[in-house]
Amino acid sequence: MSEDAAARLQDIAERVRLCQECGLYQGTTNAVPGSGSATADIVFIGEGPGFHEDRLGLPFVGRSGDYLEYLLGLIDVHRDDVFIANVVKHRPPDNRDPRADEIFACKHWLDEQLDVIRPAVIATLGRFSMARYFPDARISRIHGKPRFGGSPVTAWYPLFHPAAALRNPGLRRDMEADIRRLPDLVAEVRQRRAQQQAADETPTQLSLF
Ligand code: SF4
Repeated sequence: MSEDAAARLQDIAERVRLCQECGLYQGTTNAVPGSGSATADIVFIGEGPGFHEDRLGLPFVGRSGDYLEYLLGLIDVHRDDVFIANVVKHRPPDNRDPRADEIFACKHWLDEQLDVIRPAVIATLGRFSMARYFPDARISRIHGKPRFGGSPVTAWYPLFHPAAALRNPGLRRDMEADIRRLPDLVAEVRQRRAQQQAADETPTQLSLF
């Protein structure tokens, strides 16, 4: 099953590398499809690749990547245990924000990846990925507050972007507290999925009278 999932993620990555569905592929060195475990409990979604990510074809390298790895270390998790991706797979020129039409064009790639992995927790990093699940919300109000839904049950979990916490050290305490909650969140989703499965398997009682 996990080999099958890994192969499906690899197939998606190969198709992403050929994608020209928006203009962002122009002038880039590499596509950045995402990396990590095909059976991850946690998927992190950032905004878009930056300079170093474009050079290496990997998400969250450089200072933001180092800080994300430090955060994962707080909960004894390695980056290979999770899956890390972005809302757009090619680097926007000069690190500008991705436009709405580019995010829309790229959305189906992330949807396909999430459909393969089916993580317990989808943790958004920053406002562009947050907007997928929490439109019109403000990160300062909702960070660290999960919302549960879907089938199988999933927790959508909004977090500050690591780069924001690097720029503003005042955010780091909140960021680290939010990260420390992840193991409990994964456990809670597993419990809810087990309850959902048990409810689905319970035969409906038919009364003849
Ligand atoms: S950013 Fe996404 S939609 Fe645009 S070319 Fe790259 S993979 Fe395709």
